[in-house]
Amino acid sequence: MTEIDLQCLCGSVQGVACNITPNFGTRVVCYCDDCQAFARYLDREDAVLDEYGGTDLFQMPISHLKITHGAENIRCMRLSPKGMFRWYTACCKTPIGNTLTAGVPFIGLIHNFIKDPGIREQHFGPVLGYVHTKFVKKALPSGLNQSTFPLRIMLRWLSKVILWKLKGLNKPSVFFDSNGKPVSMPHILNSTIKN
Ligand SMILES: [Zn+2]
Ligand SMILES: [Zn+2]
Repeated sequence: MTEIDLQCLCGSVQGVACNITPNFGTRVVCYCDDCQAFARYLDREDAVLDEYGGTDLFQMPISHLKITHGAENIRCMRLSPKGMFRWYTACCKTPIGNTLTAGVPFIGLIHNFIKDPGIREQHFGPVLGYVHTKFVKKALPSGLNQSTFPLRIMLRWLSKVILWKLKGLNKPSVFFDSNGKPVSMPHILNSTIKN
């Protein structure tokens, strides 16, 4: 069980991911066009996306993410009125992670918010799936565990989320208040962009 230091690029927002082991969550690289659109929205595509257009995420319980400094800099956007809540910092446009609504005890923590990205392999484990690969910008190397709809990853995610929900790990949340209201009013991009 390890505490992972979290920090935005400029250091104004700091936090910690608590009690992390590779088996505790699920590390994936997501190539979906929505994750790409989020990086574009922040104007951080070069820093966020790998050369194939993927975002390295660690899916973990939301209550295990704490913000220790600069919570007032947290902002939220959604690509559409029903899209995921996509969290980032106002100070330097560092993506933090993606969540569903307050009741769902999960965040896909984005690699840019990890203070020392070099620890990913050791503490989050290897990438278990390369998902939504139909949106790749160029062909992935062969041999990767890639899929557009990875059933194994979906089942792993679902079973963990159900377990976390039973344990009440959607609270406390740094992103939603006790009434389930987002701490920062999401900016919703216009409806011409799909979810
Ligand atoms: Zn910052
Ligand atoms: Zn995605």
